Amino acid sequence: MTETTSTTGRTTRTGTRSRRPRRLATPLLLTTGLCLGALTVAGPARAGQTQERGHGKGKATAAVVDSTRHGGRTLALTFDDGPDPTDTPRLLRVLREHRVKAVFCLWGDHVERHPELVRAIVRGGHTLCNHSLHHDDMGTWTEERIRADLERAGAEIHRAAPGVPIPYFRAPYGSWGKTPEVAASLGMQPLGWRLAVGDWEPPGTDELVRRVVEGVTPGAVVLLHDGGGDRSQTVEAVDRIIPRLRAEGWRFDRPARHG
Ligand SMILES: [Zn+2]
Repeated sequence: MTETTSTTGRTTRTGTRSRRPRRLATPLLLTTGLCLGALTVAGPARAGQTQERGHGKGKATAAVVDSTRHGGRTLALTFDDGPDPTDTPRLLRVLREHRVKAVFCLWGDHVERHPELVRAIVRGGHTLCNHSLHHDDMGTWTEERIRADLERAGAEIHRAAPGVPIPYFRAPYGSWGKTPEVAASLGMQPLGWRLAVGDWEPPGTDELVRRVVEGVTPGAVVLLHDGGGDRSQTVEAVDRIIPRLRAEGWRFDRPARHG
């Protein structure tokens, strides 16, 4: 599955934050499938909109979060499209060995097939994110259709791990459409990213390490994948990236809780 390189559009127009230039998709990334740059440009974010019911705990807004909780020389690792019976357990082992907590954006169909892996993710102390039921492009969907999908995906996660918080939602392909408003109304904060490294290609472990180490910026949410294909290179890269970045003074953080 492919994702675009940036989803920052919604978080930069509140007036209280400086506008960041959109990261341009490289030709390399554009070869990976849908070119979704236009789809990620959505309407004005409804800053301040809050809802308190649903799958997450506390208040969620319709702003797409793409920064860490504490800022500075920190980054947050997020993994999409799992759980996967091969790569998710391996990734969980790597994260445990390095004592890093991450966010897992779960694909409903995969949750249905591997509920025990959802429980393993929760046992590992990681945070869950709803990544839709079938990984459809929801960019043109009505709010009603989006709500039905997100609720079913959430129910699938809760069937695997009853009562577990699902504080985030991430739109497949970064094709947000009306999903941020719906996710917020269900108590889930939309979760974007600042760095994607094309691990779906996959380009080789060395290259993945290089793209993360050279591409990371302070406070970045980083998009990686543990499902949707062979992600063994991603797992191997994470095992090498963590000690290397730590040696350079980076800390591993969670994404900001609210937009
Ligand atoms: Zn995905």
